[in-house]
Amino acid sequence: MANPSPNAALIGVPASRAALATPALVLDLDAVERNIAVHAQAVRAAGFACRPHGKTHKAPAIARMQIAAGAVGICCATVKEAAAFVEAGIEGVLLTTPVVSPAKIARLAALAQASGGALSVVVDSPLAVTRLADAARAAGTVIPVLVDLDIGPGRTGVRGAEAAAALVAAIRDSGTLSYRGVQAYSGLIQHIAGYADRAAAYRPQLAVLDAVLAHLTRAGMAPDIVSGGGTGSFAIDAEAGLFTEHQAGSYCVMDVEYADIEMLPDRANPFEHALFVATTVISANGSGHVTTDAGIKAFAMDGPPPRFAGPKGGVPGYAIAGDEHGAILCDEAEHRFPLGATAELVVPHCDPTVNLYDHYHCVRGDRLVDIWPIDARGSN
Ligand code: PLP
Ligand code: MN
Repeated sequence: MANPSPNAALIGVPASRAALATPALVLDLDAVERNIAVHAQAVRAAGFACRPHGKTHKAPAIARMQIAAGAVGICCATVKEAAAFVEAGIEGVLLTTPVVSPAKIARLAALAQASGGALSVVVDSPLAVTRLADAARAAGTVIPVLVDLDIGPGRTGVRGAEAAAALVAAIRDSGTLSYRGVQAYSGLIQHIAGYADRAAAYRPQLAVLDAVLAHLTRAGMAPDIVSGGGTGSFAIDAEAGLFTEHQAGSYCVMDVEYADIEMLPDRANPFEHALFVATTVISANGSGHVTTDAGIKAFAMDGPPPRFAGPKGGVPGYAIAGDEHGAILCDEAEHRFPLGATAELVVPHCDPTVNLYDHYHCVRGDRLVDIWPIDARGSN
């Protein structure tokens, strides 16, 4: 159970958004709802289904919003995320990371058994097939699996059509796994800034996927599900027409990394920022900056710096000043950011930042309206 939030008494209080005890993760529900609606519409227009990646938000409440908008289920990246979604009753959970450790596989099999078919898992090795099949047998269940394909990035997935077909054959022979389809995900291309450059880097990988699908089909192993894609590749995937379902995750809250790419060739980015870290000015004795309480421990720091989001009326820079400290860089800082004032920053990279927090502070306009636990956070 997550720690209680110190902000619980502020729920429903006017102007409470600016009064939060910080650092606090702020979720703008109006913006999340708009992002989910825009995405659902684009998914329908593209003619595929979507299974959004829950590693972004790690919260069953947001998964339910996505499913209500038409998603066929939710992806997850860790066994812990899988457990949180399955135990919350989410249908169509797909674990997109191969698992080989026996203890984790045993937990997955128990979850799959309890879920009554609501959990499927990717595999990319004969070892994972054997272990998962044995665990499914011990748990008295049949686990639906997808073969993870490496179409170029070299992170996970089997390489080549022959290896993919061999794994499908092993799944079919196992007796306790059922072959549902394939997954192909390309992470590194998602943030290439220019749309044309991104498409040029990605298209050869899609050609690999096309060839593997053709091989599997010729071998009588045509996949029912072809799952993959991210926020940055959405439009390219829609044009390619190879996937039956799309896994984009970050679109629902956005971050600085995704704000900085050309999402679409001819239109503005259709998604808006819905995720912020609120911070408080805790010291204002210097000039040219004030010091805040949000530093390295408040943001995943693998990307660009956090970006100032508000209060409106200036675009100051933000610098990390230590584990627990940040700095709002501003000429007249003392006047615009008095001691005790709060500010909000757009997070550099959404998924690992969410992982740092116990709660979403859900706001509408300037008011805190709810506090949601981030059930699926954690490292395993
Ligand atoms: N699918 C897989 C396998 C992923 O690892 C990720 C993100 O890392 C996604 C989908 C979602 O991508 P994005 O957050 O860029 O939309
Ligand atoms: Mn990410």
